[in-house]
Amino acid sequence: MKKLAILGSTGNVGLQTLEVVDKYPEKLKIIALSANSDIETLEKQIKKYQPLTVGVANEEKAKILQKKVSIPVFSGKNANLEIVRMKEYDTLINSIVSLAGIEATLEGIRLKKNIALANKETLVAAGEIVMREAKKNGVMIMPIDSEHSALFQCLNGEDPKEIHQMIITCSGGALIDKTLEDLKNISVEDALGHKTWSMGQKITIDSATLMNKGFEVLEAMWLYDLPIEKIKVVVHPQSIIHSMIEYSDGSIIAQMSEPSMKLPIQYALSYPERWDAPLKRFDFSKNLTFEKPDLERFPCLSFAFDVAKEMGTLPAAMNSANDFMVGQFLEKKCKYLDIPQIIKKVMDNHQNKKNPTIEDIQTAITKSRQMAEKFLLKI
Ligand code: MG
Repeated sequence: MKKLAILGSTGNVGLQTLEVVDKYPEKLKIIALSANSDIETLEKQIKKYQPLTVGVANEEKAKILQKKVSIPVFSGKNANLEIVRMKEYDTLINSIVSLAGIEATLEGIRLKKNIALANKETLVAAGEIVMREAKKNGVMIMPIDSEHSALFQCLNGEDPKEIHQMIITCSGGALIDKTLEDLKNISVEDALGHKTWSMGQKITIDSATLMNKGFEVLEAMWLYDLPIEKIKVVVHPQSIIHSMIEYSDGSIIAQMSEPSMKLPIQYALSYPERWDAPLKRFDFSKNLTFEKPDLERFPCLSFAFDVAKEMGTLPAAMNSANDFMVGQFLEKKCKYLDIPQIIKKVMDNHQNKKNPTIEDIQTAITKSRQMAEKFLLKI
């Protein structure tokens, strides 16, 4: 039986992970859960799964919850870290949506926990440090993302030296058919009208700008230790092929299924086993199409390739500027096209530090956020 700690259990990935747990109560047991502030959902989860303890990042909310439940509630900005440090679990599912996810992953690696990773910031901003620590501690990171799970499966039994290229597929996001002129006046509602996947708001905007795909390119580079030149992105609107690997002999191996986050979540927990399908089986009634991504309309994707060539603290700066700008856009405080424009400005003005420490990365994150704020005021 796997004993799980889920960080971010009230978010989209967290909730879907619990649905997998519901199907396999004899194989998966919940030891600890954490949430940012949604204590109503967390309280229901406590009743149902009876964890030993929970964490709530929002201190006020943590106090309210503690009065209602008999188990300990860790609170504040170290709540997730305290969960990670528990002895009673073996597999850490990190589905926090923020930079706080980095510390949690690193601590889990140092404690030699199995890591199932949905938090993007971990590898985008701190890939160099995280993968070095994972290697040192002999920890394997299982990706919870359809693309990286696909790549992992396409690598099964193959020699990574024979990889010609990794091809990451991309649904194209909600704005794929818009012209550059249309994009000038895109509303939050337009950008949230995503077609094939159901996700949180931040990641839906990142999917619309293709920044999310850029993040996935960086994650794949780190997870599979591949030079950036060997990673390609192809738009595939049906989201049936979740990614592919082309080997030296020209064979392309793809992993396919109906789109659902449950499959990569379940596989991260079942590996090396395969359990029953958590989704509707593919019936071959769809045509699969492919096209090149348009970097002129969606420059955020090209930013990821740019920072991959420089590395250092630059990916963290890009990530942080994006974080800030997407927040502003969701609050209707800036226009859609301000997002790439300000990220680019922050990247151009960032003083890059190579071979960064985690403190360097944190500094880059704070400074880039301030810089983005300053540039936005000038628009
Ligand atoms: Mg994905």
